[in-house]
Amino acid sequence: MSESSEKVTCPKCQAVNFTTSAVCWQCGETLPAPAETPASEQPVPLQAPVYGANLPPAATPTYEPQSQPVYAAKPQNYLVWSILTTLFCCMPAGVVSIVYAAQVDSKYATGDLVGSQNASNTARTWAWVSFGVGLVATLSYLALMIIGVVSSGQFH
Ligand SMILES: [Zn+2]
Repeated sequence: MSESSEKVTCPKCQAVNFTTSAVCWQCGETLPAPAETPASEQPVPLQAPVYGANLPPAATPTYEPQSQPVYAAKPQNYLVWSILTTLFCCMPAGVVSIVYAAQVDSKYATGDLVGSQNASNTARTWAWVSFGVGLVATLSYLALMIIGVVSSGQFH
């Protein structure tokens, strides 16, 4: 124990008492315990968190190269899909998809992972819209061609 902790000041009359005294020698007030706590208390041992202990380790995607960091994988930007659907399907919806596909990379570069994921979802949606519209348009075009061929054959 240090020297300063061997005396305690009475809260009532401010008289200085020894810590061995139970009551104040001047006014009889019950003295508080010394401020310094004894070192007999054992520190609580740190326990390892048990939640998630039974979970299997996170599976590493096998399709990703080992050189890529795994802490924040960039969302799929669907840029190839966007370009393909723009060229072969529906130009307007494909352009929208390309715009959002570009935002996937730019937002990921700025650390906006949520915005990057949202742009990825939007790019995928518009790529499918472009694909669907283009598919319908292509089928309609083929149908008109077939009808035209049949019609021209009939009137030959
Ligand atoms: Zn006192």
